[in-house]
Amino acid sequence: MTEKKSESKNKKLQEKLFVKKESGWSSKNKDQIFKFSEDYKNFLAENKTEREVINYAKAFLIRKGFKDISEFTTLKTGDKVFMINKNKNVAAAVIGKETKLHVVGAHVDSPRLDLKPYPLFEDANVAMMKSHYYGGIKKYQWVARNLAMHGVVTLKDGKKVDIRIGDKQNDPVFVIPDLLPHLSRDQMKRDASKLIAGEELNILVGHIPVNDKDIAEKVKFEVLKYLNDNYGIIEEDLISSEIEFVPAENPSDVGFDRALVAAYGQDDRVCSYAGLRAISEAGTKSTSILLLFDKEEIGSEGDTGAKSNFTDFFVEKITKLRKSNESLHELFHKSYVLSADVTAALNPNFRDVHDPTNCSILGNGVSIEKYGGGGGKYSTNDASAEYMRYVVDLFGKNNVKWQTGELGRIDLGGGGTIAMYLAAKGCEVVDVGPCVLGMHSPIEVVSKFDIYQAFSGYKSFFND
Ligand code: MN
Ligand code: MN
Repeated sequence: MTEKKSESKNKKLQEKLFVKKESGWSSKNKDQIFKFSEDYKNFLAENKTEREVINYAKAFLIRKGFKDISEFTTLKTGDKVFMINKNKNVAAAVIGKETKLHVVGAHVDSPRLDLKPYPLFEDANVAMMKSHYYGGIKKYQWVARNLAMHGVVTLKDGKKVDIRIGDKQNDPVFVIPDLLPHLSRDQMKRDASKLIAGEELNILVGHIPVNDKDIAEKVKFEVLKYLNDNYGIIEEDLISSEIEFVPAENPSDVGFDRALVAAYGQDDRVCSYAGLRAISEAGTKSTSILLLFDKEEIGSEGDTGAKSNFTDFFVEKITKLRKSNESLHELFHKSYVLSADVTAALNPNFRDVHDPTNCSILGNGVSIEKYGGGGGKYSTNDASAEYMRYVVDLFGKNNVKWQTGELGRIDLGGGGTIAMYLAAKGCEVVDVGPCVLGMHSPIEVVSKFDIYQAFSGYKSFFND
């Protein structure tokens, strides 16, 4: 008898002492989670480039009562504003009673194939476009699959045209032909990073030659003629363009239970979408800000990345319109940021790259990562003990299921987010986002449960 008694006492004590690591599926509202994911999948299908996401964000924010900040002469509690930066970067805010900022920052760019300045050539009776990949990709994943062409071209005559071919049911697609196994003996000896070399990522775009013996590049001629007939494009215009080749397939459910989403670009559009939905339900205690950045995948550089002055510019506008005397330094130093980005999920096929006791697992909730980077914690922000406590308590109070871990084994590699750039301003920052299988591959997989926890987490933060 006494033995059994002490066992149940220890069991109780264990409940208190141990962290619970388990799937959240059983305890949460499945219908709500699935409904959210349907909206999310529609968003992913419609928006495959950073410009498309920003256009979507603008329309979404307007629908939710946000107005361009240029329409305001003063700002008061409850006002909802946004600002667009060069079509690739948006900031949105709900003005709170306190000036203290609660910021969620995500990025809208994803790895893909961009075009070289002079992309078009012909060889062996086909026309091809030369690409230059953007971000950290495994190049071999982009051959032998259907690609769609998305982008914008500014024409010599001053017009700007959007191109979008390959996603709709009867659209043609574009393909990078791989080498047949029969002749791959030498290729298979290459280092995997060069299995497909950068210069081998040429994309098939045409085949029928013009019927004219005086024209030297007959297939290229027909491709340019097509682009000119349909979009008014001449070859020179391709220099003033941003054309991206992205996976042509649209998002799908995975598995018999349909509980996972497979889609291109979920890093980091999953957080971008969750952030947008969350700020549309933000309260007015603190001042909520959503930042959607471009260029994260190539180091957050340039005029639309997290290192640009856009955040300061937007916050400075808010401060002035509130007639506040607070400096940006004062404001940032008391403000809180969730760097909303994805992390790696434990992959059963590659368990060895993870520390299984310190990794994220699909379905265990949104991941809070104290730091990223690689071995030795270089190139990252390391969130403070106090701020970690705040976020964990906030999620606990609001029934947001969370987990924590590291990206992977210490010496194997690493990755960065925008966290360190916002932390450098003086804000408290931590990374919070769902974990992903196959990150940066043409098809990334995320748990619908974790997506919903990310949304719930950002929402609770915007309401605190
Ligand atoms: Mn990311
Ligand atoms: Mn990434």
